[in-house]
Amino acid sequence: MADQQFDCVVVGSGPGGYVAAIRAAQLGMKTAVVEKDVVGGRCLNYACIPAKAILRTADVLTEIREASDFGITVGEPEVDFGAVQVRRDRVIKTLTGGVSGLFKKNEITYIEGAGSLTADGNVKVGDDTLAASKCVVLATGSVKRHIPGLEFGGNVIGTEEAWALSELPKTMIVIGAGASGTEIASAYARMGTEVTLYEGLDRVLPTEDADISKLAARSFKKQGIDAKTSTFYEGQEADWIVIAAGRGPDVEGLGLDAAGVKLAENGLIAVDGALRTSAAKIYAIGDLVPGPALAHKASDEGIIAVEDAAGLSTHPISYPDIPRATFCTPNVASFGLTEEQAKAAGHDVVVGKVQYGAVGAGTVYGDRTGLVKVVGDKKYGELLGGHIIGAKATELIQELVNAKALEGGFPEVARMIHGHPTLSEAVMEAARAADGWVIHG
Ligand SMILES: Cc1cc2nc3c(=O)[nH]c(=O)nc-3n(C[C@H](O)[C@H](O)[C@H](O)COP(=O)(O)OP(=O)(O)OC[C@H]3O[C@@H](n4cnc5c(N)ncnc54)[C@H](O)[C@@H]3O)c2cc1C
Repeated sequence: MADQQFDCVVVGSGPGGYVAAIRAAQLGMKTAVVEKDVVGGRCLNYACIPAKAILRTADVLTEIREASDFGITVGEPEVDFGAVQVRRDRVIKTLTGGVSGLFKKNEITYIEGAGSLTADGNVKVGDDTLAASKCVVLATGSVKRHIPGLEFGGNVIGTEEAWALSELPKTMIVIGAGASGTEIASAYARMGTEVTLYEGLDRVLPTEDADISKLAARSFKKQGIDAKTSTFYEGQEADWIVIAAGRGPDVEGLGLDAAGVKLAENGLIAVDGALRTSAAKIYAIGDLVPGPALAHKASDEGIIAVEDAAGLSTHPISYPDIPRATFCTPNVASFGLTEEQAKAAGHDVVVGKVQYGAVGAGTVYGDRTGLVKVVGDKKYGELLGGHIIGAKATELIQELVNAKALEGGFPEVARMIHGHPTLSEAVMEAARAADGWVIHG
């Protein structure tokens, strides 16, 4: 048995693992990354990135269809789905190649194989043991989960497979109208697939603010999506049935028990604020641990974990304030509390709502129906939440996230100068509306 000595061994090379490894190496740790599949993790290879590459195709298609509004005459565009998938693969390869390049640049050892913990908190890959003097970072992500009464197999697939189809389906059923489900529905419906979207709760995007769900539902209808809310799937037929209703941590074969790593609820790994597990020098991050299952959350946790292992005092994460982005059309993005949650939490709630059409950019760029909603607490002007639907919402939300992180409230956002004509002026106006005054709105 060959023994290799490292300071830090990271298991999994997704956005949690690869970022942890790079930061560890930057902090002077001799670092290895173990990956059982392909570099970049699920995010880059099967999930976030392929999804966004195909959504981008659907967005370009929508723009071409709406070109006449901008004075351009074009015929009805055709989707060459083979070429769409070729581009998707190219995007993935470019980005995963970038991660490999960063590993080389930072002198990180990349080891192919499935890693598992040894009883003394090191990592085993096949017959090799990788000793880690400072930390082991578990970053093995999550896997799809079926729903009761419906197993995967045949034409029943998960979200990752839905983004890797070789032909454009004629019909598709999507179960679950959360972020992943609505992205799939919105992309395929616009490319010509007949999509039925099932949601057991009473609205699409049920974790978003109710005003946002309402506007999203209106737009999905226009895209031809048959969204059935308060309805459970009951065996209807389609070319593909996509289960987009939850995932679970990928802990199989990791040897958590042997190493003394304890679980929290839902089979996730229990960690403290620095992502330390119950076992000495073992950290767990990303989809393995509680909090929103998002790539940027995984990356930030990776940084915190290895900085802690290096003995640095690192930053805390405010989990509710992590930006959440859904790249369906229209884009949806949010952070913090919804209006309903803020009221339930006993805040003296104030709300500012402004449509994109209130500011010049909404009309110039062709999205007047987008909406920015700021939820605040009246007393000190605290920003409790931000909710945006419309073009570039996924970019615009960051301003409110940053303002809050820098301890700014909505009165500060209301009085910061925003460039003109930009959609960010609608964010400023929504903050002004929360502050009790508004110029355009
Ligand atoms: C369809 C879809 C779309 C999504 N879109 C977005 C989005 O737009 N934005 C966003 O923020 N989030 C998105 N997510 C969520 C995001 O993909 C995850 O939150 C993110 O990938 C978690 O990163 P991670 O590093 O924890 O794990 P992963 O990306 O899952 O990577 C884990 C890696 O560990 C490897 N591994 C597992 N076990 C072992 C082992 N024993 N030994 C060695 N290697 C192992 C796996 O092969 C994998 O490569 C999406 C998810 C899905 C399913």
